[in-house]
Amino acid sequence: MIYADWAADAPVCESAREELMRCMSIPGNPSSVHAAGMAAREVTESARAKVARLIGCDADEVYFTSGGTEADNLAVIGGYEYAKNVLGREAIVTSAIEHAAVLNTVRYLEARGADVRYVAASERDSSGEPTGRVSADDFERVLDGAGVVCLMHANNETGTVQPIREVTSLARSAGAIVFCDAVQAAGHVKLDVRELGVDMLAISGHKLGSPGGIGALYVRRGITLPPILHGGGQERGLRSGTLPVALIASFGAACAEAEESLTSESAVRELRDRIAAELSRVDGAHLNGSREYALPGTLNVSFDGVGGEELVNLCSLRGLCISTGSACHSGMGVPSAVLVSMGFDEARAEGAVRISIGRGTTEDEAREIMRIVRESIELIREV
Ligand code: PLP
Repeated sequence: MIYADWAADAPVCESAREELMRCMSIPGNPSSVHAAGMAAREVTESARAKVARLIGCDADEVYFTSGGTEADNLAVIGGYEYAKNVLGREAIVTSAIEHAAVLNTVRYLEARGADVRYVAASERDSSGEPTGRVSADDFERVLDGAGVVCLMHANNETGTVQPIREVTSLARSAGAIVFCDAVQAAGHVKLDVRELGVDMLAISGHKLGSPGGIGALYVRRGITLPPILHGGGQERGLRSGTLPVALIASFGAACAEAEESLTSESAVRELRDRIAAELSRVDGAHLNGSREYALPGTLNVSFDGVGGEELVNLCSLRGLCISTGSACHSGMGVPSAVLVSMGFDEARAEGAVRISIGRGTTEDEAREIMRIVRESIELIREV
């Protein structure tokens, strides 16, 4: 089987696997004061430092969560409450192309009376083709009274990297705090929260080489979010629940390995570009999203007359795993809201498939990806 769905879930890397196995045999609750508890705490704090290093913050600004979805909920709900109660600013400004973990949380708040403003991914390149990026000017127009601005770093369907620095600087001047969902970007491109200027940033272990069920939220020192889970007050009161020591250790190892491997980003990019170039030679192929601002391993493409679901299923039968849009929407048979927001018609949005590779993808696999996709399209078009 060839795995080209890294954006849905990255394979567990060697050091994360080893660290998971090693720490599963360490007994102890990091909150306990005895020697076993202290040993467990040493493990979680060492991992916290590795997570912090990956995103350029201090260890005490990292809060462990169960993954990206929880980190997103905590940041959106907590950020909204903080802005309302501390800054006296109520509006939420977000993009229309956020992951469901952000969009549905924002909608939850909207249904309870929050003033929410959505910004479409309206930017076009010089040939009039949608890039998949929001425009900072569109954000600027709706920042009046904004308390929290939520903008993802890179989109999960197209891999398009958003103008975070520009939007952050506008949001800050307008008096708002900024949350960035960097679940797709972390471990794949260099991230530095200080350079980006964001106040909160979410990452997820299973997108960068650890098992699923673990993630983290960066919260800039000075911002106090209210918790959404109530309990024993772990994670300095923000996220109650006994810490999963082995998962955290594994996550820390994956972050360290990802950081070291950022140097191979250009090799991944080169392989992805080769696949993109080959597939764009297929009749009626359309690459969706900017090439200039893109994660190294993600490619989104539609082929005229070929349904995305059909292509994914046929590729799967022939031993290749790719996906339509995001894994969370696969199988729902609806056009991608992200591509619709970019201005594509339904056929192109419905036909889109995402091919995503990573640092473990080989040249042979890339060749197979191109062959299987090409042959599957021919087969679909023959019937
Ligand atoms: N945000 C983005 C951009 C994602 O791509 C995903 C997962 O696909 C999530 C959030 C949710 O993360 P998790 O699967 O860790 O809950």
